[in-house]
Amino acid sequence: MLTAHIRLILADVSLLLTAYSRPILASVSLLLTAYSRPILAGVSRLLTAYSRLILASVSLLLTAYSRLILAGVSRLLTTHIRSILAGVSRLLTAYSRLILAGVSRLLTAHIHLKGVGVSLLCGLLIGCSQTPRQCSSNIVTTWSSAYQSINQDITTLTAAEFQGRKTATEGARLTQDYLIKRFTAMGLQPWQSTFAVPFSYQHGFSTASGVNIIATIAAKNRSNRWRVITAHYDHLGQTASKMYPGADDNASGVAGMMAIAAQWQRHPPLDNVNLMIVATDAEEPGLYGSYALVALLQQHSLMDIELSINLDMIGHPDRRRAIYMDGQKNIVDFALIKPQLMQQTQLCIRTHRASLLSGRMNRTDWLRASDQYPFHKAGYAWVYFGVPPHAQYHTPDDTISTLDIHFIVAVTETVYKMLSINTLTKAS
Ligand SMILES: [Zn+2]
Repeated sequence: MLTAHIRLILADVSLLLTAYSRPILASVSLLLTAYSRPILAGVSRLLTAYSRLILASVSLLLTAYSRLILAGVSRLLTTHIRSILAGVSRLLTAYSRLILAGVSRLLTAHIHLKGVGVSLLCGLLIGCSQTPRQCSSNIVTTWSSAYQSINQDITTLTAAEFQGRKTATEGARLTQDYLIKRFTAMGLQPWQSTFAVPFSYQHGFSTASGVNIIATIAAKNRSNRWRVITAHYDHLGQTASKMYPGADDNASGVAGMMAIAAQWQRHPPLDNVNLMIVATDAEEPGLYGSYALVALLQQHSLMDIELSINLDMIGHPDRRRAIYMDGQKNIVDFALIKPQLMQQTQLCIRTHRASLLSGRMNRTDWLRASDQYPFHKAGYAWVYFGVPPHAQYHTPDDTISTLDIHFIVAVTETVYKMLSINTLTKAS
């Protein structure tokens, strides 16, 4: 998601370090062993011979210049304190997701830090929730076939032959075929002539290409009202030794979106609303699929896009078993709708909140983290559903065995329920 380049670079560096760490450590250790005595002896001789001189000059220098030095440091700090703080804040914003993932991995490793420690960290770093109020963990779902279909979709999308679904690879092509087959079997229609809608984008110094898969369910009564649901299907692919299955990121969102489409097709809740279902590509390298989608939507000014809902990572809940939601500012009467949604499935819905340390950074991070961002920039109303980063995030361990399928069903029922509310957003 956010700053995919940095993540790819970090992944490469980490791979390199892992591959070469032994020979590097071994040679360093050999060198130190072989030369430690002469080095230590030399250093010691130098220090003995010159220690008095060194100390005397340092002392002289400090005495002579201390006022000047202090004044300079003080002036520097005064002048630059704003830019320093801004830089730190920008860094934190850029890396918060990575940092959170690291912290989460650490916490998993040191699971005994539970209780007070975890909630303290959580509160300080993430501003995890609106209130510490506990939600029920007793999720109630009613869609009888959703569990099976979601399980099947994730199993397929994370299979070895899909190769981690990296954009413009054979694995991505297989994924596109699979999604089109699913849409066709459900009886959905392409938006334009075909489900596959290719796009190109500038990636570094070269032009790359991706393919969004776009399906629609037309309103029963002819209407220009549209609601859009997106979930990215691309992921990080594979290296010689590792495959990144991306079960939570984002086979979970795609599978949930499929279940919502199937339900909407069987029981369209509103007669005057068209639904657009988009499996986006090239999210991981930089949200390129959703930028292309938004550019396309903007060419159709007669379409009234009331709301876009993005699903990204909805299968691996935290210990509160809560789904996180952002973008509620767009929603009319959100304070009333939220308990209504929670009542349906007993699913715990939490909204992000700036915390003590992170301030604005937190919200910015969630906003830019996934495909909702191009919609936001273009001025469309959007809502995003997802879980916080976890230990398996962007690792080869993001497998279906770590997911809570029952939780995914509850999220999809919640999203469907939300999409079914007639007056969701303010008329533009
Ligand atoms: Zn990702």
